[in-house]
Amino acid sequence: MTKRSIATVSLSGALDEKLRAIAAAGFDEVEIFENDLLSFSGSPRDVGQLCRDLGLAICAFQPFRDFEGMPEPQRTRNFARAERKFDLMQELQTELLLVCSNISPASLGGIDRAAADFHELGERAGRRGLRVGFEALAWGKHVNDYRDAWEIVRRADHKAIGVILDSFHALAPSFPVTAIQSIPADKIFLVQLADAPKLGLDVLSWSRHFRCFPGQGDLPVVAFMESVLATGYKGPWSLEIFNDQFRAGSAVRTATDGLRSLILLEDQLAKASVDALQPKAQSRGVGFIEFAVNETKATDLAVLLGQLGFRKTGAHRSKDVERWSQGGIDLVINCEPDGFAHSHYVTHGPGVCAIAVDVDDAGKTMARAEALKARTFYQPVGPGELEIPAIHGVGGSLLYFLESAGKNWDVDFEPLRSDASTDRLSVVDHISQSMPYDEMLSWLLFYTGILDLQRLPQMEIADPVGLVQSQALINGNQSLRVVLNGSSATRTLSNRFISEFFGSGVQHIAFSCDDIFAAVAEMRKRGASFLKIPENYYDDVEAKYGLDAETMSALRDNQILYDREGDGEFFQIYTHSFDERFFFEIVERRNYQGFGAANAGIRLAAQTREARPAGMPRM
Ligand code: MG
Ligand code: MG
Repeated sequence: MTKRSIATVSLSGALDEKLRAIAAAGFDEVEIFENDLLSFSGSPRDVGQLCRDLGLAICAFQPFRDFEGMPEPQRTRNFARAERKFDLMQELQTELLLVCSNISPASLGGIDRAAADFHELGERAGRRGLRVGFEALAWGKHVNDYRDAWEIVRRADHKAIGVILDSFHALAPSFPVTAIQSIPADKIFLVQLADAPKLGLDVLSWSRHFRCFPGQGDLPVVAFMESVLATGYKGPWSLEIFNDQFRAGSAVRTATDGLRSLILLEDQLAKASVDALQPKAQSRGVGFIEFAVNETKATDLAVLLGQLGFRKTGAHRSKDVERWSQGGIDLVINCEPDGFAHSHYVTHGPGVCAIAVDVDDAGKTMARAEALKARTFYQPVGPGELEIPAIHGVGGSLLYFLESAGKNWDVDFEPLRSDASTDRLSVVDHISQSMPYDEMLSWLLFYTGILDLQRLPQMEIADPVGLVQSQALINGNQSLRVVLNGSSATRTLSNRFISEFFGSGVQHIAFSCDDIFAAVAEMRKRGASFLKIPENYYDDVEAKYGLDAETMSALRDNQILYDREGDGEFFQIYTHSFDERFFFEIVERRNYQGFGAANAGIRLAAQTREARPAGMPRM
């Protein structure tokens, strides 16, 4: 069994809060960051005791800076300083000190000089039964490559001196990781793990602000860990994440995400082993989307759905719940006065309370989700009702796993006949969820860990009052697309949605069709009305793409937006927002894979014009 660890610096809060969150998430060990200890009111003995009470071993105390290669008198002072840290470590009851490579301009180069310093430090540590690990910082003055740190450790030739490997410091500067395989396992005292998104930043700012958990970034952490495991290393896998969002967010959520990322990493490295997770089930699209509303809003929503061409196709046998369908799309309107949907409505107002994903094996998906510490959901079902396995998803909504989408309806619903021949919309194209930016990485790991979803490149979208990050996830056969929108600017529409919805949630649902012009014409005939797009936009499209006059006037007259990538074309149109909570989008894809990111700013500006000014009370 891997020993799973995390550095206290990765989380928000006071040291005792961090430790409790780390223990609650299920970690075995912890690295105590010196600053967390210094700013804490309890003594090192208290902290050591708290860790033992919580069942957490302390795998390292860190960091000890600017040690190797110093001239006198700093050199002598450094040994005295180290002795004081050793005292403190003995009070904490931890045996490993992390020394990171020197960044002081006063430090001197020379592998042998550094090795001699470490040999002497090893003597001092060894006398107390302690050990010292040396870590190369990517921005160290003389030592910035783990291969040099290892060479210094090798020449120091002391059993109390070893090397500490950090995936960020090896991978961010693109050092080859295969050289790790030649380090003897007993000389690797600790392995620290972090991922990071690819950014054009200097490595120090990149490390200090944008590290993230393995699987959330773009670094080849799996290849790094393959090399580590090839040595026979059996020590802890310790997450060390410096990230502004993590330090602003909830310690409990961050700790849980960290553990989930380690489980996923172990799984990627242990494909065939007995403790591997259930493989990901194959997703086959959206089974249904459920809206929680009250009776008045249910009527309004039914009117809107009717205008979009949906037909009422079922009435629940015992509950105030309706099924509305079109093509392969099923929507559920739930205004039951109790149960999960009702409590969602009370907490969040009208909106999506559940999404059912159609998968080839719901049991396998649930087992995998549970192994990844997702919270499962159970609600008592009435006699003869179908129980659908579910977990808690974004913003208190549910994620159902439906194995045989379509077959569920006859059990719970009285079917109603209607004419399907006029259906224009075919399937759910994508579901877009808004969340605070600090939650985005969390839900990214959730979706990609549990389901067979891959990340598309992250996009930045300009809202009139700030930036929104947009991360699309897609499955292999493109039947399931989820878009996560995260904003940290408080007045963006995405963030206003979050504050008014009282949490994260579905902001829009896009339906696809084969002929958007015909579909929209019929919707307008039924009374539908769409978001007003400014004339300037169409002048720009005309100039940019040179479309024929007929297409241009069809776009203009219908308020349809247009985008092109390569020879692919995309058409999209938006409804007004429903009760200021969510809206629908109709799209037509012609060999086009994106989401119309080029138009998102236009859409957001148009919606902002239609929205009640920020701070105005709801009518
Ligand atoms: Mg480190
Ligand atoms: Mg969209």
